[in-house]
Amino acid sequence: MTIFQKIIDGEIPCSRLYEDDRCLAFKDIQPQAPFHALVIPKKPVEMIAKADEADEALCGHLLRVAAKVAKDAGYEAFRLVMNNGEAAGQSVMHLHVHVLAGRDMTWPPG
Ligand code: 5GP
Repeated sequence: MTIFQKIIDGEIPCSRLYEDDRCLAFKDIQPQAPFHALVIPKKPVEMIAKADEADEALCGHLLRVAAKVAKDAGYEAFRLVMNNGEAAGQSVMHLHVHVLAGRDMTWPPG
């Protein structure tokens, strides 16, 4: 079981920003920007590459919730990141969208 599943199940606390029947948004424990949230589906999809056609609406919902939590925190500019696989920096194998804001972002990303 992943750490995010334990957060969904309430076994591990989180700083919750938003929740509905399909997803949960909370602050990242190791923020990489002044504002750093994670949006995760309650359904245990491992990574975006494992999302199937039936998950399309869910994936779109995660993106819209990501924009909402940034806006609710007062940010017009923000960056969304999804790491897919260990080599891309994914450390928790439960789909999540990073929402980063509050500082200038560089490109290309590291
Ligand atoms: P990944 O590296 O998989 O793309 O992102 C996983 C993120 O989850 C990391 O930014 C990490 O700081 C965050 N994270 C890991 N464990 C916990 C936790 O127990 N609570 C919270 N709030 N964030 C966590």
